[in-house]
Amino acid sequence: MTGSLSARPDRDTGIVYLVGAGPGDPGLLTLRGGELLVMCDAIVYDALANPALLALASAVERDEPVELHDVGKRGGAADSSRQAEINALLVRLAREGKRVVRLKGGDPFVFGRGGEEAQALAAADIQFEIVPGVTAGIAAAAYAGIPVTHRGVATSVTLVTGHEDPARDASGTDWAALARAGGTIVLYMGVQTLPRIAEALIAGGLSADTPAAMVQWGTHPHQRAVVATLGTLHDTAVREKLSAPVITIIGDVVALRDEIAWFDTRPLFGKRIVVTRARSQAASLSERLAAAGASVIEMPATRIESLDPAPLRAALGRLRDYAWIAFTSQNAVRFFWDELRAAGLDARALAGAKVAAVGPATADVLLSHGLAVDVAPDRFVAEALLDALHGRRDVKGARVLYATAEGARDTLQLGLQELGAVVDRVDLYRSVLDGSGAEQLAVRMRNDGADLVTFTSASSVTNFVDAVGVDVAREAPAASIGPVTTQAARAAGLDVVVEASESTIPGLVNAIVDHFAGAASAAAR
Ligand code: SAH
Repeated sequence: MTGSLSARPDRDTGIVYLVGAGPGDPGLLTLRGGELLVMCDAIVYDALANPALLALASAVERDEPVELHDVGKRGGAADSSRQAEINALLVRLAREGKRVVRLKGGDPFVFGRGGEEAQALAAADIQFEIVPGVTAGIAAAAYAGIPVTHRGVATSVTLVTGHEDPARDASGTDWAALARAGGTIVLYMGVQTLPRIAEALIAGGLSADTPAAMVQWGTHPHQRAVVATLGTLHDTAVREKLSAPVITIIGDVVALRDEIAWFDTRPLFGKRIVVTRARSQAASLSERLAAAGASVIEMPATRIESLDPAPLRAALGRLRDYAWIAFTSQNAVRFFWDELRAAGLDARALAGAKVAAVGPATADVLLSHGLAVDVAPDRFVAEALLDALHGRRDVKGARVLYATAEGARDTLQLGLQELGAVVDRVDLYRSVLDGSGAEQLAVRMRNDGADLVTFTSASSVTNFVDAVGVDVAREAPAASIGPVTTQAARAAGLDVVVEASESTIPGLVNAIVDHFAGAASAAAR
C-alpha cells in the first residue's frame, strides 16, 4: 500500500489529494486517507473536519510541522469567490512542491465541490488523486439504525441537496419524480429547507404519513436523531431543537430503526468518561467503555518507567533461596520477566518457588508465562491475599521475593513479615507524570467537563490530581475500582459516586453502566 508513497512526485511539482474525511467518527476515515494525513506537508480543511484527524497528522514526528490551512469560515465572502480562493490555494501549495491533503467532510464528490477543485487542478496541470470517503447521508442513517436500502422495502436511494432559496436551486430537482420513484430519499440540507421540500414531495404524491427521520451530528458522540413522518418531521425537529448539520431520511426504511438502532441506544452513549491509567494499560478499559457507547477521553495520567535493574539481578542470582515470589501488578511481572530472560533464564528457574499475585490480571500474565499462582485471594487487594496466606504453614520462616512498584503500599510486605516471612522487596518500576498529556487533559476538563473519571489504583488518583490540579479534579464525579482506591480518592477530596463490587476492569465497567442506568431510571420517575 505504501508503494505509491515512495513514488512521490519530485519536490518541484507537488500533488493534491482530495481526501474524504468521513462523516465525523474518526474511525470512518479510510486507510488511504490516514496514510496521506500522516505523510503530507500541508492540510487544507473546513468546518466539518474532525479535530482528531488533524491531531493524527500532527502527532507524528516530522522534520517540519505540517502546514494547516483552515478554509472553513470566510465570513462574508460570496460562495464562488471563496471556492476560487480555495482552488488558488491548492494550486499555489502544489506549485511550491508540497504534498497537499485537501480534507473534505464525507465523500469529496458528494455535494463537496470536490469535482470543481479537481477541475481547477486539472486545468492548472497539477497532479491529483481522489480518495473517496464515507458519505454523511449513508453513515448518519446507518448510525441511526436505518439501512438506506432494504430488501422488500426500498430498492433505490436518492441523495439530494437543495439550496435554501428555491429560486437559486440551479439543479432544479424534480421533486414530483422523486415522490413517484418510491425509493429512499436522503436530504443533505438544513432544517429550514424541509417544509418546502416536504410540501413538494406531498404535492407530487408521496404520503404525508411516510416515515421520516432527521439525524444531527451523525456518527459523532453527540448524535441526535428524531423520527416522525414526512408531514410532522419539521415540527418535531424544531421542538427537539435540531440544527445543522443534519441529514434527513424519508421512506419506509426509517421504520427499521425500531429494530436496528444500535449506536445512540448503548448504555453509556453520550457520556464523557476519562480514563487515567497509563497508556500501556488503558486499552482494555477504554475499549470496553467505548463499546458501551461512552466517549472516552484517554489521557495518560502516568507512564511507566523502569528502575535500576541491579537489585532484581542480584535477587535472580539467588532465586533458589526464595520459597515464594509475590507480584503486585502486571507491570511487575513484565519487568521481572524481561530481566529473567536477559539472564538467560525462563519459567524453569522458578520451579522451586511458590507464586502469589494480588489480582486476576496479574495471575493471567503469569499464566501466559507458564506459571499458575499458588494462592488465589477472593478479593483483589493485598489484605485478601494476606488472609489467604494466613492459614498456610509454608509462609512462616520463608524467604519471599516481593516484586512491586516504587511508592506501592507496604501492606503486603508488613503483613508477610507479621506472618513470619523474610521479605526482600524489589521495586521494579515507577509511574511518572506525563506532562503534556496532563496539560491537555486539564484544558479539556476545564472547557467541557466530564461525566466521570475512572480510577484503577490509589496512585492513579494521586497522578490525576497532580496532573489537572485539585480544583478541576474535585469537579468531576469519580468511579473507583475498589475500596482502597475509593479511600485514596475520598482522601484527596474527590466525589466517588461509583465503586466496583468486583475489582476488575469488567467489574468497573459494569458498575459504571449500572450507575448511569440507575440515574436514567431515577430521572424517568
Ligand atoms: N461531502 C459531504 C457532504 C457535504 S454537504 C458528504 O459526503 O457527507 C454538507 C452537508 O452534509 C451538511 O449541511 C449536512 O446536511 C450534511 N452532513 C455532513 N456531515 C454530517 C453529519 N455528521 N451529520 C449530519 N449531517 C451531516
